[in-house]
Amino acid sequence: MIKYMLKCCQDHEFEAWFGHSSDFDDQACRGLIACPHCGDVHIEKAPMAPHIRTSKSNTRKFDEIAEEMRRDIEKNCENVGDDFADTARAIHYGDAPERGIYGQATIRQAQELAEEGIETLALPDAITPRNKTKLN
Ligand SMILES: [Zn+2]
Repeated sequence: MIKYMLKCCQDHEFEAWFGHSSDFDDQACRGLIACPHCGDVHIEKAPMAPHIRTSKSNTRKFDEIAEEMRRDIEKNCENVGDDFADTARAIHYGDAPERGIYGQATIRQAQELAEEGIETLALPDAITPRNKTKLN
């Protein structure tokens, strides 16, 4: 069932349920839908509130971008788990091969890294690689 917001020629708005999206066109064509306020059968779909559409498309876009970033990290970076701070430091000082890594660090560890000039980036949940947490 689909609920449409409908509108007659005189801008009366009313809601109606249809079994299928094509049912509206079919019934409206044959003059089977009448405005409950004035009986007008020239009915069209009322535009939906724009803010609903916008927020939905923004959410989808963010999800897609997040998904892409997450895959990129999974593909190109090594999960070093709780060794993140040590490994980041080792790479920074040339004690370990340079590569992309991700893992867990405490806020304190991240601050210490920052003080040493090592930039880290906190990953939002949506772009944190899944099922790849290193278990100790
Ligand atoms: Zn009407």
